Amino acid sequence: MKPPPGQCRQCWTHAYDKSIHRRLKPGQDCGPCLDHLHNGCPPEGKAPKKQSSWW
Ligand SMILES: [Zn+2]
Ligand SMILES: [Zn+2]
Repeated sequence: MKPPPGQCRQCWTHAYDKSIHRRLKPGQDCGPCLDHLHNGCPPEGKAPKKQSSWW
């Protein structure tokens, strides 16, 4: 499975692949998810779009 264009690959993968978060201890936060949550998703981390427009 590949993330849809414009989606953050990391956030999408973590949302889709529950096994990633299953590895965390109970109550432990996912570092990469927290990073994107607080700092936003980096543009280079997003799946490429065919069109250059944002919307
Ligand atoms: Zn995560
Ligand atoms: Zn993200």
